[in-house]
Amino acid sequence: TTAQIGVTGLAVMGRNLARNFARNGYTVAVHNRTAARTRALVEEFGDEGDFIAAETARDFVAALERPRRLVVMVKAGEPTDAVIAEFAPLLEPGDMIVDGGNAHFADTRRRERELRESGIHFVGTGVSGGEEGALHGPSIMPGGSEESYASLGPMLERIAGKAADGTPCVTHLGPDGAGHFVKMVHNGIEYADMQLIGEAYHLLREVGGLTPARIADVFRRWNTGRLDSYLIEITAQVLSHVDAATGEPFVDVVLDRAEQKGTGRWTVQIALDLGVPVSGIAEAVFARSLSGHADLRAASRGLAGPTPRPLPEAEADAFADRVEQALYASKIVSYTQGFHQIAAASAEYGWGVDAAEVARIWRAGCIIRAAFLDRITAAYEADPGLVSLLSDAEFAREIGRAQDDWRAVVSAAVAQGVPAPGFAAALAYYDGVRAERLPAALTQAQRDYFGAHTYRRTDREGAFHTLWGGDRSEVDA
Ligand code: NDP
Repeated sequence: TTAQIGVTGLAVMGRNLARNFARNGYTVAVHNRTAARTRALVEEFGDEGDFIAAETARDFVAALERPRRLVVMVKAGEPTDAVIAEFAPLLEPGDMIVDGGNAHFADTRRRERELRESGIHFVGTGVSGGEEGALHGPSIMPGGSEESYASLGPMLERIAGKAADGTPCVTHLGPDGAGHFVKMVHNGIEYADMQLIGEAYHLLREVGGLTPARIADVFRRWNTGRLDSYLIEITAQVLSHVDAATGEPFVDVVLDRAEQKGTGRWTVQIALDLGVPVSGIAEAVFARSLSGHADLRAASRGLAGPTPRPLPEAEADAFADRVEQALYASKIVSYTQGFHQIAAASAEYGWGVDAAEVARIWRAGCIIRAAFLDRITAAYEADPGLVSLLSDAEFAREIGRAQDDWRAVVSAAVAQGVPAPGFAAALAYYDGVRAERLPAALTQAQRDYFGAHTYRRTDREGAFHTLWGGDRSEVDA
């Protein structure tokens, strides 16, 4: 027998993806550098479907029907190149290498270009949903050629997560690095979502005076409304959990140092290169790095500032409602920024990414899955040329209704000395984009003063320079 698909790299993600394919009726060839993992997979889960265990690369490739579909699920970076170098010589034109790891999209573009010379389709594919998602239905974000999607698409649609309306959370996003780029921004938005949730929790606790258990109830309530999402749901779970060893709220015994693997950082680095303001995502990445600087924090602990005074009990519910508005408004902003970044990259690299489709395939399977994504899909379906999510009439109306509470929450955070960089940055972005005039006029004038960088005028065309060191007359530049 031959396998319709092969998976190499059988750590948590690869193993569960392989099982997902097998449970959906595909014969799956499995391979791992360390063969013990391959044997363990077949021993433990062999009865879930048809697996062909391969010990060597040659056996693995020989087990695959042609054109071959080979999924690589190894550590991103050099290991991916090592695996490609091992398998590519064994493949033939028309075969497909699907890289499901969290690759940097520039690496994906390079690999795609290199393999295209030998006729091999390299399909950089974002996979989200963690190990549970990989097993039960992830959100899948493939790039690569149209031809490869024609072959892989039906299989990916079978194993992908399904939205409430039954549609699979996978689509062909565009050529070469488009899939990995979209996955990267997904992760950036995930960082922002988590940071905003963290700030909401912190404010409910420090300003609202609520216990973690009460805050869990608040999140549970929010989860029945427009914030309905996986991250809100698990937040309620985490906050209601009590540490068995100490009897304390679990959140209080976890060291407050957040780690990161790199996709959030990449999102910000690339946004800087593209010139796209993703301040919400950036603040989330920086908040994690600030948390990790133990020395800096220890050295700063004695600095002056207000001690938060919790509101009277009777005002806690009303405050929680305001925080919900602030969280929702800030969330709209971070998605606005993320979608702007995707649109900018799509234009830069000629990908033709369809924003409505991106929102559609994030509705299930992935970490940022949320009811809210239906709304984003609808906004881009109504106007595929939408410049900004904020200019969608519905979102504009909602954020308009939220803004008073949003400002009140940011003011409370500032007054009480509780850091809320995500809420504040989102609000500053909102006020920045809606401002009639920005102090950028002054910035540009300063640039002209010290560097003769020239400026444009509001009242006529052209570029101008003022002779700042001379008689201050204006000349055409
Ligand atoms: P890891 O990222 O921990 O990678 C371990 C796997 O990589 C093992 O199969 C290992 O083989 C293999 N490997 C490492 N170096 C090499 C090499 N030089 N040559 C061949 N194989 C090598 O596994 P995960 O399952 O966590 O993740 C797999 C990919 O999926 C990663 O790119 C990750 O970023 C991405 N991802 C992970 C998610 C998660 O929730 N964990 C979610 C979404 C994507 P061996 O057993 O021989 O050591």
